[in-house]
Amino acid sequence: MRVGGRAEWLLEPRDPAELRAAWLAARERGFTPRVLGGGANLIVDDGELPGVVIATAQLRRLFRPTPDGGDALDQAPSGAVALERERDTRLVAWCGASLPSLVSAARDLGWSGLEGLAGVPGQLGGGLAMNAGGRWGALWDVVERVRVLEPDGTLRDLTREQCSPRYRDGNLGLRLAVGAVLALKLDRVADVQERCRSFLTEKNAVQPVSEHSCGCIFKNPDPELSDGRSAGRLIDDCGAKGLARGDAHVSTLHGNFIVNRGAATAADVLTLIEDVRDLVLEKSGVRLESEARVWRARPAS
Ligand SMILES: Cc1cc2nc3c(=O)[nH]c(=O)nc-3n(C[C@H](O)[C@H](O)[C@H](O)COP(=O)(O)OP(=O)(O)OC[C@H]3O[C@@H](n4cnc5c(N)ncnc54)[C@H](O)[C@@H]3O)c2cc1C
Repeated sequence: MRVGGRAEWLLEPRDPAELRAAWLAARERGFTPRVLGGGANLIVDDGELPGVVIATAQLRRLFRPTPDGGDALDQAPSGAVALERERDTRLVAWCGASLPSLVSAARDLGWSGLEGLAGVPGQLGGGLAMNAGGRWGALWDVVERVRVLEPDGTLRDLTREQCSPRYRDGNLGLRLAVGAVLALKLDRVADVQERCRSFLTEKNAVQPVSEHSCGCIFKNPDPELSDGRSAGRLIDDCGAKGLARGDAHVSTLHGNFIVNRGAATAADVLTLIEDVRDLVLEKSGVRLESEARVWRARPAS
């Protein structure tokens, strides 16, 4: 969104061991660290953000399971791991691996399951926390297991069933996702490529992908309450497209996106979100729930 202030402390671990050490160090000093992935679904408040932010951008390794059956979530194998394509269609990734890098690795191998994430920015950890996806599928659909750091620093491997992810919510609670094993399906390279291409083309036509935003602001409501209308459609129907606060604008291309036209502040964006929520409630009776996460500099009054 390109808004917001500075973190009081910013830690940038390079591997899972450093990530755990950073987490423990923060907690021992009484902080509950905030975890920053790609920031693609985040609105950071203006001013100084008190406490610790752990950024996962350097934990970007993505590899295939090792031949001995281990997945090396702690330590990436040093050399290339040559496996027969058919034998094992799993990918292992640390939390900072970018979603586009996962999509293109799977596409190039001809493995199906991640095409629905074509064009979704951010990292694996943020994608797990948000259960990123869309109408062609979501990230958790292909998760075999995720390695999490519990608040007390214990590492655990959890299956999808143990996490019970929901629509746009990986249900991680206070846990930090360290990495995951993704189980994909063997397919034809050309078919996977074609699906990625067509999903991307469709997204690019309806979303303001070249402007600064944090993706969809609101979750789609229960269709029974909204007559089947999506959040974007409800916003459109109440004439909110184009509404602005400072440089924060409701996108004219997609009503569920707020874009920063240059100098918007977090206050502009957050006020505009409430304006839109109020307008939709007034005109349709539907109260929209936020999808984007907000990091407040201080507790909301
Ligand atoms: C142009 C555009 C298009 C988009 N299209 C889509 C779409 O089609 N579908 C969709 O679902 N989303 C979409 N998004 C939103 C965004 O891409 C996803 O939500 C993505 O998963 C966010 O990942 P991130 O790494 O940027 O997370 P961040 O924004 O950095 O963080 C989001 C939340 O996840 C938490 N988090 C981050 N990393 C971890 C971790 N390792 N462990 C635990 N918690 C963590 C953060 O603390 C925060 O609460 C779009 C965004 C943009 C800008």
